[in-house]
Amino acid sequence: TENEFQNKTVCVTGAGRGIGKALALRLAELGAKVIAISKSDENLKQLVALNNKISPVCVDLCDWNATKEAIKPHLPIQLLVNNAAVAILHPFLEVKPEDFDVLFNVNVRSIICVSQEIARDLIERKLPGSIVNVSSQASAAGLKDHSIYCSSKAAVDGLTRVMALELGPHNIRVNSVQPTVVLTEMGRIGWSDETKAAGMLSKIPLHRFAEVDDVVEPIIYLLSNRSAMINGVGLPIDGGFLAT
Ligand code: NDP
Repeated sequence: TENEFQNKTVCVTGAGRGIGKALALRLAELGAKVIAISKSDENLKQLVALNNKISPVCVDLCDWNATKEAIKPHLPIQLLVNNAAVAILHPFLEVKPEDFDVLFNVNVRSIICVSQEIARDLIERKLPGSIVNVSSQASAAGLKDHSIYCSSKAAVDGLTRVMALELGPHNIRVNSVQPTVVLTEMGRIGWSDETKAAGMLSKIPLHRFAEVDDVVEPIIYLLSNRSAMINGVGLPIDGGFLAT
């Protein structure tokens, strides 16, 4: 794998913090040219301070046209991780239409926007590619107060399957990963309460939440040629949560 990522351009969305940040740093370490997309300039500055070979792209992924324009100068991009997402949690009866719009714009629509731009270019150049969408165990299990988040991640899984179907003939593979809780800033929104955390932990056969690296490594595998025949899957990274 070390050699495989040399001279390859990989785009990671939501690379300003959390899983995306760790992934961007790891891929840069493996020799890839990393395009790191995030919304806050401050977070991107901190990322580049850790590895100045990473190219930061500061854009709001909710802005369809600005996102496409921001990506263009970096093409061709053969590897893509659609990782950016937001979590807004409310009881179902209190969900607001604005919550729906934000979650679906960032968590689903941005995947379409970024992947279209990158895949269209690869198809024109007849280059192969691999795309990993970061879904969640929440795509396949109902979690209290997560109605819109769960819906958005179920949409990511559906989108992944159709992208795999339509881009596969162009030798562009598309898969998703479905992590359990990771205590990033996002993870802490839902799971810093001890009672809630204990309830979730009791349903995970490995009895722990995922570490950032537990998620980073399987994503790198799905990007790499080691997974050359894997297309259209949703890979749980959940210590067995979805198996129970
Ligand atoms: P964080 O909240 O820690 O980081 C999210 C990243 O997405 C940030 O870099 C943020 O940018 C970026 N982002 C959010 N909105 C936008 C936007 N409009 N435009 C550009 N960038 C944006 O999340 P995690 O690292 O925890 O999550 C990463 C992925 O993993 C997500 O898809 C999440 O749904 C999924 N996941 C997370 C789990 C968890 O428990 N943490 C569990 C299962 C799945 P900025 O820093 O600039 O604000």
